[in-house]
Amino acid sequence: MARTRPVTQHPLDVDHLTDEVLSVGRAAGLDAVGVCDAAPFTDARRALEERKAAGLHAGMGFTYRNPARSTTPGANLPDARALVVGAVSYHRADDGTAEATDSVGPQARVARYAREDHYATLHAALGEVSRRLRADGWRTRISVDDNTVVDRAAAHRAGLGWFGKNANLLLPGRGSWFVLGALITDAPLRASDGPVDDGCGTCRRCLDGCPTTAIVAPGGVDARRCLSWLLQAPGSFPVEFRAALGDRIYGCDDCQEVCPPNRRLDDEGLASDPPGSAVTAVLDLLSASDDELLARHGRWYLHERQPRWLRRNALVVLANIGDGADPAVAAALQRALADPEPVVRAHAVWAAGRLGRPELVVPVADDPDPGVRAELALLDQERAP
Ligand code: SF4
Repeated sequence: MARTRPVTQHPLDVDHLTDEVLSVGRAAGLDAVGVCDAAPFTDARRALEERKAAGLHAGMGFTYRNPARSTTPGANLPDARALVVGAVSYHRADDGTAEATDSVGPQARVARYAREDHYATLHAALGEVSRRLRADGWRTRISVDDNTVVDRAAAHRAGLGWFGKNANLLLPGRGSWFVLGALITDAPLRASDGPVDDGCGTCRRCLDGCPTTAIVAPGGVDARRCLSWLLQAPGSFPVEFRAALGDRIYGCDDCQEVCPPNRRLDDEGLASDPPGSAVTAVLDLLSASDDELLARHGRWYLHERQPRWLRRNALVVLANIGDGADPAVAAALQRALADPEPVVRAHAVWAAGRLGRPELVVPVADDPDPGVRAELALLDQERAP
């Protein structure tokens, strides 16, 4: 594809253009922004391929789907020369304390990044950068939350931060509460200073603080044990991790909550905006229609946009924090046991057993679905003297 940059303009001043691009990004809302070259991310590709071969990705798509593409900027934009990498903070001062719902009953916790649409802010800011570059005839391609670029590796190369042992990128003095995105361009921008020195040192709090010991090595997460991924993955929620899920309905923040650079931010109150919805009512989730669920939570990743996965997760949470003696809880279980989706009925069986209401499962005693039958067998085993 031919470059569209006009040939009549002034000689290119790379430093001036780079400074302008960085300044446009900051003015548009990026909390941190840097530039790196567009060479393939060979280390990231090797890591993705090794983890995939070892099964640690647990069927996860995202940048694992096509490592050759997600680690090669030129595969997304021919003649790519630079990446502008941006970060938008989602740290909020009152996180964890907000009751953003009037509904009664058990409340499920939403991970910090998912409470507001920070990716929209990030996309809009990189859009401003794109407009500035395109005004000079350069081509651009934005990658935000679409897995076409290994954004953490790009942010690391652009000097934004270091890789924490929890596999997140940490920005010096600012922690890891950031969403990251990149813009690929054929403009020859000046690379920022980098990389940033490792700041973890001997700390290993994230490895010890993970509720399912999913961080199996510094920087290495076994997705088969990661609650955040298990909430998004299709299929049965693994029995061995259901209790550990606790009240989480979307995402898990534990490896970031325990991280000292993040804790310092909380201690110093370094945030301004009010938080989004920190919790959501479990019984509301279980009584909502498909359309209502998608309208409320369609921004979250639901495999094939199927609300059944959200109901499955809600049942595990209900089992962990609900009161089996509450008539509203029993009614929710009865509805779930009559659900046309086998995965919902199966998790309702488990929830009924855990909440001390095994008698509720009678209507599915002859259920033809193998997943439901497996849960019934498990329940029988647990009740056996
Ligand atoms: Fe690094 Fe410690 Fe934070 Fe883990 S908890 S990312 S080891 S500073």
